[in-house]
Amino acid sequence: MAQRLAGKEVVTDLAHDLRGRVETCIRAGVHPTLAIVRLGERPDDMSYERTATRRAEGLGVAIKPYVLDEFVPQAALLATIQSINYDRTVHGCLLFRPLPTFIDERAICDALDARKDVDGISLRSLASVFTDATQGYPPCTAEACVVMLDHYHIPIAGKHVVVVGRSLVIGKPVAMMLLHRNASVTICHSKTENLEAMCRSADIVICATGRARAFDRAYFRPGQTVLDVGINFDTQGHLCGDVDYEDVEPVVGAITPVPGGIGSVTTSVTMEHTVHAAERAIAAAAKDSSSRH
Ligand code: NDP
Repeated sequence: MAQRLAGKEVVTDLAHDLRGRVETCIRAGVHPTLAIVRLGERPDDMSYERTATRRAEGLGVAIKPYVLDEFVPQAALLATIQSINYDRTVHGCLLFRPLPTFIDERAICDALDARKDVDGISLRSLASVFTDATQGYPPCTAEACVVMLDHYHIPIAGKHVVVVGRSLVIGKPVAMMLLHRNASVTICHSKTENLEAMCRSADIVICATGRARAFDRAYFRPGQTVLDVGINFDTQGHLCGDVDYEDVEPVVGAITPVPGGIGSVTTSVTMEHTVHAAERAIAAAAKDSSSRH
């Protein structure tokens, strides 16, 4: 039986640290605040917003919602992002995507101040992930994978990691983050040949393809760690991951469930980035005031 890498344990651990940090910020006169920008009423966005709001409330992080019309013109959305950039009371911004096709998503993402880009959507933040610089933040789901491995003391350095998926949201950034942690990383995608053998060769497999229960036991071998990033619905409408959990769990060494795995840690990572951004703002204000005196 595999070790179940439950997100709840990680979330509780992060919450313990974050509550103290939020209190310290508030004592310094700054209330860590996350802006959530949503266009229209997409059920998955609204569900994620409710989860994020509940998590924020539990930590003492404030949420500032911006609900815009689903047909909002590009200029108005850009103006909202710019107002968030200038708002000193807001420290992080979460923008629900994908944006409608009539909007230039890249231009909107890149307009966000890297200091408030807590989900790594701008090219400046993504460049930092690739160069290991400290501008902006990595995408939260990519970081959630690393946080999960660290929490359960799963070694990364020297290990072979196979990442299936090469999006800018998960596949590429998590591969770079693990490379910086001295893993040997193979990135696979829809054109990869012999994917089963590729996955079986790894110590750690990260599945991020968005295909419901597509990975069965043929892709795995004993002793492996499996991180399932997928959030999908099967033909009966049940929430499930990319991995066929029931089939794979008896084979591997450790595995994340869906729900209750990477997704729940992702929300906590968003909160950690927001609190970190507030701490940075406090430090920058202190530096500014000491240089003026
Ligand atoms: P994308 O659709 O952007 O990327 C999917 C990737 O999977 C692509 O690189 C694609 O390859 C690859 N892929 C598709 N089919 C296959 C195949 N048959 N074999 C191998 N690789 C394949 O998805 P995202 O990266 O945005 O999301 C992936 C999953 O993660 C989704 O289920 C999404 O819902 C979930 N997700 C979870 C989050 C969380 O918090 N846990 C947050 C965000 C997303 P190619 O490039 O060749 O097309």
